[in-house]
Amino acid sequence: MQKIDRHVIGEIWTSDVAYQSLKHLCDDIGHRFGGSDSEHNGAAWLENKMREYGLQNVHREEFAMYSWERGECFLAMTEPVERSFSAIAMPYTGSVNLEGALIDVGEGEAPDFERLGDAIRGKIVLTDAETNRPGQTKSHRTDKYRRAVEYGAVAAIFINQNPGLLHITGALYGRNPGGDTVEDHTAAIPGIGVSFEAGMAIRRLAERGSPKMRLRTKNAVYRSTSSNVVGDIPGSEKPDEVIVFGGHYDGHDIAPGATDDTAGTLTGLEAGRALAPFAGQLKRTIRIVCFGCEEIGLLGSWNHCDQYGKPESTETLKLMVNLDGAGRGKGGMEQVIVTGDESEMITYFEKLGDDLTYNFPVTSGLSAHSDHFPYFLAGYPSVTLRSQDATAGMIGRGYGHTEADTVDKVTIRGLQMSAVLVARLAARMADDDSLPGSPKTQEEVREILASKEMDHFLDHHWGRANRVL
Ligand SMILES: [Zn+2]
Repeated sequence: MQKIDRHVIGEIWTSDVAYQSLKHLCDDIGHRFGGSDSEHNGAAWLENKMREYGLQNVHREEFAMYSWERGECFLAMTEPVERSFSAIAMPYTGSVNLEGALIDVGEGEAPDFERLGDAIRGKIVLTDAETNRPGQTKSHRTDKYRRAVEYGAVAAIFINQNPGLLHITGALYGRNPGGDTVEDHTAAIPGIGVSFEAGMAIRRLAERGSPKMRLRTKNAVYRSTSSNVVGDIPGSEKPDEVIVFGGHYDGHDIAPGATDDTAGTLTGLEAGRALAPFAGQLKRTIRIVCFGCEEIGLLGSWNHCDQYGKPESTETLKLMVNLDGAGRGKGGMEQVIVTGDESEMITYFEKLGDDLTYNFPVTSGLSAHSDHFPYFLAGYPSVTLRSQDATAGMIGRGYGHTEADTVDKVTIRGLQMSAVLVARLAARMADDDSLPGSPKTQEEVREILASKEMDHFLDHHWGRANRVL
């Protein structure tokens, strides 16, 4: 193991290849929105890199999906004052032209909607997008959107919670996510993203009484394809036992998604590059996956996860390590979040930190909004390895999901340190006699979800429904 450590640390620490790749993916290939030409170009480029680095069984897993293209968006207050605001449509918003009374639901948590109740029907809802500080788990945008639809709103305006004149974006779900037409996959009501400053201005002006807004936007949902990019470092003794390490290479169309999640994707690819020479020398198979379409419903991870359950599959998925958020910041801020089998998992990863003489915080938590979640629902052990953002003081997603998620938010050192950690962990996990976490039955998964008041996700996760099967 010491030989491997020395190789991967030396290889990664003396190279800027991951940072050069980040620049290429962000500055040349662009946003990589799910199903777009840019995403297809990103997949082709990543596949070539995997081959160049000597990963094995390199291939793309293609799947059909519904994509979305942005058009114009016009938002204005018509009463009590006339004022227009810079605004963007959120993905899967259709084309609308409407005017309606505005109602402010504040943070948009469940009690906010309950308090206003029937007063919401027929109105345009104004809500904070996401307000959680690190460690807090408040409602996700899609939860607030779902409430707006359920309470009969005609549109929802989401306010970015960090100053800087940055629009907030994030995908919505279709009116009938299980359907198979463009109409089914178009959002039931429009979702609109505005900056913190525009949102605060709308709030102030609305307080003058009886506010009304006009909204006009034109966008298109269309059928397309996406793919995951997959490459292996095959194991020796137990090649059919697989550990997946993956980040998502798709982004939102308003930014190149440097931190969310190009940096995480490249953390996995860089670890794969450093470990490729050890093919056939570690017991289990290490599988590097670059997921497509995370931002629009975890479509790539649903698709990849499903491969393991098929009767013809001889492989066993032992553990999934999600790299959404890895490689951000200045380096040295890596952390592991485990889901399920908490005490066993935490003990295992803390001990690995001791072995590496590189300790990192290990906590437990379950989010439904990234690529580990389909694996969790299918009963596979999963963890998330991420790096805390250097932009302290920001709330919610920080620069994520805004125009400012750009290359300048990522450092060479941040990428190197997380790639070193992932490579060293991967080598040990591939070789350890036993791994923590055991497969869960659907009943056990349901119990864990119920204990966290998240059981509705088992039956209705919009991403699962949004896939084209
Ligand atoms: Zn992400």
